[in-house]
Amino acid sequence: MTVDAPGIRFELKRSSNPVPAAERAEALSHLTFGTLFSDHMAVARWSQDRGWHSAEITARAPFPIDPASSVLHYAQEIFEGMKAYRTADGRALLFRPEENARRFNQSARRMAMPELPEADFVAAVEGLVAADQDWLPEGEASLYLRPFMFASESFLGVRPSREYIFCVIASPVGPYFKGGSKPLTLWVSQNYSRAARGGTGEAKCGGNYAGSLAAQAEASTKGCDQVVFLDSAENRWVEELGGMNLFFVMADGRLVTPSLGTILPGITRKSIIEMASAEGHIVEERPYSFDEWQADAASGRMKEAFACGTAAVVAGIGTLRHAGGEFTIGDGQVGPTTEAFRHKLVGIQRGAAPDSFGWTREVARAG
Ligand SMILES: *Cc1c(COP(=O)(O)O)cnc(C)c1O
Repeated sequence: MTVDAPGIRFELKRSSNPVPAAERAEALSHLTFGTLFSDHMAVARWSQDRGWHSAEITARAPFPIDPASSVLHYAQEIFEGMKAYRTADGRALLFRPEENARRFNQSARRMAMPELPEADFVAAVEGLVAADQDWLPEGEASLYLRPFMFASESFLGVRPSREYIFCVIASPVGPYFKGGSKPLTLWVSQNYSRAARGGTGEAKCGGNYAGSLAAQAEASTKGCDQVVFLDSAENRWVEELGGMNLFFVMADGRLVTPSLGTILPGITRKSIIEMASAEGHIVEERPYSFDEWQADAASGRMKEAFACGTAAVVAGIGTLRHAGGEFTIGDGQVGPTTEAFRHKLVGIQRGAAPDSFGWTREVARAG
């Protein structure tokens, strides 16, 4: 990790009103995704004249927002998604947090927002996990972390805001897909695309998600779990899901994944590429068309397909539904290669397997 000196210090100011232990234990015993929040949040402010300042870990509380705050009008907002995991021996691990810090700044540059030094981003996340360690669930569950930044200046002109708020909140979560490890059914959208060349597809900005919701709703009406987006220029090349990247497992052991450019550069995607390459798989990052997908599934050249991202880690894809019909991949179940990648990645994230890539970072409990 690069250390950018002099950094801001996130001062811990413990909540005077934390959730009582018995109430917390009760809440942690039946987790969903993204509905429960821990006691604290990390916050820092940026202004043109002061830069980053007022950094603290403090009681989680609403922000007073002026109705003219530019984020409410022009959506200058970016975010990250990462998790802290509890190991079997009770330690707290983060997975490649410096990758999230780097991507956060790539998103910031694209949205004309100030960068936060990587060390400060990681310090904010670590500080929050350290303060809220009691919220880190055991077993299959984890503590989802949501760093984000938004434009907070009260001004209606269209130009980059001169004030921003950076914040990290934490949410104990159970599995992302309610069906557990059932294979996904995907809807191939013909009406909507997610990103265009030169657009914001590579940035983790809230607007990309707002734009994906109508397509996701269409997928739901077709009885599908998620939508697959094709490229906007030719409506031909497979890109990704609304919040997960894609991999195809070929019969000869090769992995294919759509190349970067308009898709979100997932850290799970990157980790699978690195892991698979180290194991001797050939990994092709290249344009892959929906026609090829259909033909490869029909011929048996494609054995498995899976989606990946922090929230769901690795999720097998069973069926593709589209305007012209539907087809299955392999036997329509979660395949062995998919399952093996999920198992290996989860093993490293939870400290159950040797961290041969040096991807995890332990967080000590705050004193
Ligand atoms: C966050 C995200 C991903 C997955 O990224 P990870 O770093 O693996 O969690 C994939 N696609 C989109 C659109 C995303 O926003």
